[in-house]
Amino acid sequence: MRLGGEMLGVAEGSQVEVVADLTNLGESVLVDATAHGRVTGQCSRCLNPLDVEHSLHVSDVFGITPDFITGDDAEEGEEPLMVDEDRVDITQLLVDEAGLTLPFNPVCEDYGLECNDAIPAPDGISGEESVVDPRWAGLASKLEEVAEVADSTDSADTDTDSDKDA
Ligand SMILES: [Zn+2]
Repeated sequence: MRLGGEMLGVAEGSQVEVVADLTNLGESVLVDATAHGRVTGQCSRCLNPLDVEHSLHVSDVFGITPDFITGDDAEEGEEPLMVDEDRVDITQLLVDEAGLTLPFNPVCEDYGLECNDAIPAPDGISGEESVVDPRWAGLASKLEEVAEVADSTDSADTDTDSDKDA
């Protein structure tokens, strides 16, 4: 369950401990589970590796009988959670909860660490400056145009820019 990018995620193969309480409600089972594991990722500011403990708590009702209806909190078209061969699959619940509780742009401070000031964050990370300066990119394409015109001087005067001002 790697969530990708700079986000924190649980590395594949990493051990996750799950403690669950099951409550029989007759037609359904209330599953109250806590998953505990290590999440890893990168500080979005200084790129220091982050490796922290994290717990996720989920609680939901799984139907036992096919007639089970999840009630008013079920969204249109959403598959009700069902007990399948005496098992409940809480994977999706945990993935959803991880998406809600883990920061999209984790930083060292979130985990009581200090950013590594010795290595300034690359400009590209901030999103305020792109790696390729657009001004230079524009100049580069202009130079290519000039080169093309120079290669075919006959067509240089047949420019049809007049439409712009009409
Ligand atoms: Zn940092």
